[in-house]
Amino acid sequence: MKKLSLLFVMALAAAASTGGNGCKPKVSARTKVAVSIFPLYDLVREVAGPDADVSLLLPPGRSEHTFDPTPKEIEEVAASKLGVMVGLGLDPWMDRLMKDAAPTARVLKVGERVPTRTVLEDAVGDEAAHKAVPEDDHDHDKGAVDPHVWMDPSRARVMVKAIGDELGRVDAAHSNDYRRRATELGARLDKLDAEIAARTAAWKTRDFITFHGSFGYFAERYKLNIVAVIEPFPGSTPTGEYLEAVLKVVAQKKVTAIFSEPQLDPRPAKTIAEASHIPLGTLDPVGGGPEVDSYEKLLRADVASLEKYMK
Ligand SMILES: [Zn+2]
Repeated sequence: MKKLSLLFVMALAAAASTGGNGCKPKVSARTKVAVSIFPLYDLVREVAGPDADVSLLLPPGRSEHTFDPTPKEIEEVAASKLGVMVGLGLDPWMDRLMKDAAPTARVLKVGERVPTRTVLEDAVGDEAAHKAVPEDDHDHDKGAVDPHVWMDPSRARVMVKAIGDELGRVDAAHSNDYRRRATELGARLDKLDAEIAARTAAWKTRDFITFHGSFGYFAERYKLNIVAVIEPFPGSTPTGEYLEAVLKVVAQKKVTAIFSEPQLDPRPAKTIAEASHIPLGTLDPVGGGPEVDSYEKLLRADVASLEKYMK
C-alpha cells in the first residue's frame, strides 16, 4: 500500500513538472462530464474535444430503461461538473445518481430542449389498438411523452447546441472551443439528416414494426409508419394475446421484416418473425458496440438495416 501511494505521489509530481512555469498539474484540470446513454455520450465527446473528460454511464448492450447503476458508475459521477441526460422519463437513474454523487453539478436534460411527441401506452399501432380497446378506454392525453428524441438528427442538432452552451457554462475558459465544435457537429448532423431523408424517400415500403417504442421520432422525421411495437414496456415480455394482435397487423399491413434490438431479449421478435415467415433483422436505438461506435454510424446502421427490407 505504502509503495503504491509513493508511486502515486511521484506520478503527480511528474505531471506537475510537465505543466511548465510552475502551473498546476494538467492531469486533473480537465472538466469532468458524465453522460447517461451512448448516443448522447458520443455527441458530448465530439463537442468536448480535448477540453473535457467525458464518461459514459450506461454500459453498451444494456437497456436504457432497466439500468441500475453500480458503485463504479457512482464513482464516475462523483467528480463531475456536469451531467448530461435525456430526461422525459428515459433515464431517471441518472437523475438519482447525480443528486446522490454530485449534488452541486449542473444537469442538462436535452430532451427538455426539443419538441416532443406522445405515445399510446397500448401501442400495438393506433389502428389495431383502437380495434382492440373500447373507445371509452382511450384517452390520448394520457399518452406518455416519447423520450427517444435523439433518433431524429434534426433534434440532435438542437441538443448539440445546448451541450455546447452548457459545457461553456461549466468551463468558461474553453467556451469558444465548445461552441465552435458544436457548430461543426451541427453541420454534420444536417448532412446526415439530408442523407437519411434522401435514402428513406426512395423506399417503397413505408410501414414497419419496431421492438420497443424507440423509433417514433425517426419515423415521424422521415415519414415512415410504425404500425406496431412488439414490446411496449421494454424489459417486460408481452402477453400472448398482445403478440396475436401484432401478428394480425403484420398480415394486414404486409410487413416485410421484424426487428429485434441488441439491448433486449429478442424472443418475442423471433416468435413473430417465425409465425409470419418473414425475416428477422436488428435495429439499434442505443449503439456503443464496435460497429456502431458513433452517433452517426448508429443512425446509418439503422437506415441500412431498414433499407434491406423496405427499398
Ligand atoms: Zn427506449
